[in-house]
Amino acid sequence: MLYRVAIVGAGPSAYFAAQALHNLQNEDQIFAIDMVERLPTPWGLVRSGVAPDHPKIKTVSKVFEKIASDPNFRLFANVEIGSEISVAQLSERYDAVVIATGSSLGKRLGIPGENLYGSMSAADFVPWYNAHPDFANIEIPLDCDTAVVIGAGNVAMDVARMLSLEPTELDTTDTADHAISAFKNSKVRDVYTTARRGPEHAAFTSPELRELAKLEHTNVIMAKSDIENAVIRAGEAPEKDVKSNLDAMALIADSPKTNHDRSMHFLFEHRPKEIVGTDRVEGIVYTTPLGDVTIECGLVITAIGYQASAIDGVPYESGKVVNIEGHVKKNIYVVGWAKRGPSGVIGTNKSDAAAVVELLVSGLSQPKNNGDISDLIGNQIVVDQSAWQRINEAEVAAGELVGKPRRKAVLREDLLHLGGL
Ligand code: NAP
Repeated sequence: MLYRVAIVGAGPSAYFAAQALHNLQNEDQIFAIDMVERLPTPWGLVRSGVAPDHPKIKTVSKVFEKIASDPNFRLFANVEIGSEISVAQLSERYDAVVIATGSSLGKRLGIPGENLYGSMSAADFVPWYNAHPDFANIEIPLDCDTAVVIGAGNVAMDVARMLSLEPTELDTTDTADHAISAFKNSKVRDVYTTARRGPEHAAFTSPELRELAKLEHTNVIMAKSDIENAVIRAGEAPEKDVKSNLDAMALIADSPKTNHDRSMHFLFEHRPKEIVGTDRVEGIVYTTPLGDVTIECGLVITAIGYQASAIDGVPYESGKVVNIEGHVKKNIYVVGWAKRGPSGVIGTNKSDAAAVVELLVSGLSQPKNNGDISDLIGNQIVVDQSAWQRINEAEVAAGELVGKPRRKAVLREDLLHLGGL
């Protein structure tokens, strides 16, 4: 029997759901997968989230392309679900629909001054430097000497690193051209990453902390007393991850100071109270154990987590799709960050998607045989797998000429042009 499954979104959890379906195929059940993506390019956060100076993490895209090479896989990129085509229409036509739309909206602090020019979310800044077409034109005020990043997770770390790297180090990466040139003109020299709790509660992971020691042109500064006090608070038998993080932070705190003109500073127990300024950000006030402290700065980037954006016809609550173990309602399922919230690394989505797909398959009865998305598309220009391959190859070829793994096209029309559309 042939079942048709629509997957909405083309990021890691979408591909892992397709892979899990593929793995469950046998003589009795074949799965034809249509993956639908609103951007002209697939790969989700692997293209627009992962930091450009982390090329190894992006090699998972080879797995995605292998999954896409299955003859029963079709890509429908540049097609948005929720506006012209509804989830309900997909649900009528397909045996199952899997929502894999991630969490694209940055959580907000909810403090005064958050709307000032110069205060923004990592949910805008990260796709901007990663060449996401919707963020190409946002303005990032890099004309100040000090920037602040709020949050103690890996996104905060990526953002702080991108702001404080010597920008020529990005020449050999797939950072958007517009971002490399903005970083080269940037006046920012001090970047403060601030955590509202102590180092023992930081959400950074230790490989990311250890990597900071390898920065060749940036000082990395943590106060030794912060780490020593955290070690005491963590007690004799801290969890493995906490110990590993504290060990990595102790190494940073102990490392000899250098004279680079760029510095990354880490401040703990700094709870944001108010962003101040008249026409633009001029500083941020924190509540700390020693009283209120102000850091003068011209840019504040919050990296305090994400929430899913809603799609019509799919119930949402607390930034996630309402679901029970991945089942939403009827033949609709959800995987990845849209299901469980923004946690875990890319690989976490593999086991998560496999479990949801098992549930999905157990709920199948007779195939519907009731059409597919091509009945609904109309005049929309679709980037299918071969058009995407043309885009992919053109970007990689353009990168090769200048010593980069790829040179990304940014604007939708440029991407479509590369796809021959
Ligand atoms: P995260 O790991 O959940 O970290 C969020 C941080 O924001 C926490 O330190 C949290 O502090 C802080 N925070 C939340 N609300 C706050 C508030 N109102 N005021 C101040 N601070 C606040 O989230 P993320 O950094 O967005 O990362 C999302 C996921 O992607 C994580 O699993 C991460 O590991 C993963 N990721 C991995 C990589 C990599 O492998 N290289 C790169 C990027 C992202 P509290 O703990 O006090 O709440």
